[in-house]
Amino acid sequence: MTTGNETVESLSAGIYSNLISALVQDLVARETAKQRLLAARYPGAQPYHRDDTGALDIHGQPKTQESSRYFLCKNCGREISANRFAAHLERCLGGRGGRR
Ligand SMILES: [Zn+2]
Repeated sequence: MTTGNETVESLSAGIYSNLISALVQDLVARETAKQRLLAARYPGAQPYHRDDTGALDIHGQPKTQESSRYFLCKNCGREISANRFAAHLERCLGGRGGRR
């Protein structure tokens, strides 16, 4: 085990190396178990599509323009663009400003 010419540096390097490999092995074991559990629970699951340009959604489909979707405000009966709906509701229900 010890050869007699070990230094504080070589000993601490050995301890550090052991700690790091134990941590890595633990991490890999946990992630592998998690992946197996997920694969068993959801056999046909596909990973989410990743698009760094932000043009595609998590299913790999092109994102729809929010402004092209309209929702009916049940308070005033008007059709409101999806990207302005939250702001409209706040105004329409008399939250901020209270203009109604
Ligand atoms: Zn409204």
